Amino acid sequence: MRRESPSRAHCPLCGGGTVHDFYSKEGVPVTCTSVFADAAQAREVARGSIDLAACDRCGFAFNRSFDPRLGELGARYESSQAASAHFNTYAAATARSWVARHRLEGKTVLEVGCGEGDFLRQLRSAGVGHAIGVDPLAPVPLGEDRLPQDIELMARRFDASLLDLQADALVCRHTLEHVPDVQGFLTLVRQWAARAPARVALFDLPDAESVFAERAFWDIYYEHCNYFTAATVRRAFELAGLRILALGHEFQGQYLRVEAAPDPAPRPPEPMDSTHERTMYRSFAAATDSSLERCESALRALKTASDPLIVWQGGAKTVGFLSALSEPHLIDGAVDVNPQRQGIFLPASGLPVYAPRMLQVLAPRHVILMNPAYQEEVAKTVAALGLRLQLHPVGELLQ
Ligand SMILES: [Zn+2]
Repeated sequence: MRRESPSRAHCPLCGGGTVHDFYSKEGVPVTCTSVFADAAQAREVARGSIDLAACDRCGFAFNRSFDPRLGELGARYESSQAASAHFNTYAAATARSWVARHRLEGKTVLEVGCGEGDFLRQLRSAGVGHAIGVDPLAPVPLGEDRLPQDIELMARRFDASLLDLQADALVCRHTLEHVPDVQGFLTLVRQWAARAPARVALFDLPDAESVFAERAFWDIYYEHCNYFTAATVRRAFELAGLRILALGHEFQGQYLRVEAAPDPAPRPPEPMDSTHERTMYRSFAAATDSSLERCESALRALKTASDPLIVWQGGAKTVGFLSALSEPHLIDGAVDVNPQRQGIFLPASGLPVYAPRMLQVLAPRHVILMNPAYQEEVAKTVAALGLRLQLHPVGELLQ
């Protein structure tokens, strides 16, 4: 049953009042990252609606039906990617790069949206003197017992009462896409950064341009109420009075990295041309039906009567993928390297998630790879298990 949810009639980036819907999906699970101990519970997960809208003025895309109460309900679960060696290597390189570029050795760094504190540890390893994490879901006091010295966790939201918190830099990774009030949040960041000289704000977030351009409908899910491109994230920062120091792509183009500082003399924003974004959203929307049809026909072709069809990843992309398909039962199971995801069931579909070694028992001939960034890591794991199977990056199903 569709729940009543508030509709965001104004653009959360620029405040513009003219927005146009371009992609809708009802009855999607409010969480893609949660895991459930039994399949029946997983199928009973709360559902919400996705109505992606684009702002006429600034080109920002957002889910105008996002309900923060449902978002919070879904956010109380495990979403760590730390079990992947590839992702860990990326996070460690990010920490080292930020410490070197912004001379943070021995300094204090504040992380907003720190989760369980994995990145705080990476920052300490990279030379940061003191790392403070703020997150309403931070596992305090459980986490504190396990925390090394010089790492502090605050289980709370980042709000105006924390503007006096002392640190030399603010980092924020994979959080801005979850924040309904984009302008309010970035304005707080600017206010915090402006309270002491030379403070910087360092952000990492998914780039939605590749999602829309590559028709990756599986990357659209409820938790992400915001879909930034390089251009719209720049507008968001500049409108909040933050000057961009650097803006680039990371992790094979999937992430945007933004480094910014308070602008001492903010100018009125330049007129915004959102033609590129709006054209891209329209093409994505126009191709949705054919993308789904191609995917399902490719899945049917891969699945033979006796073969299980398995996807590699028991997380968000797989849940997004199954939520969009009209025949989710074509997929029989998922595998994931994260031990916390093994032996559990995915929200909505109730799909079981196995450890990679279970592939020896399941013996699939074809495995769909939800994230091509992990192809090398997955191929090595498959080879180490002595398996002969074909890996299909999910994007190939659209061709
Ligand atoms: Zn706007």
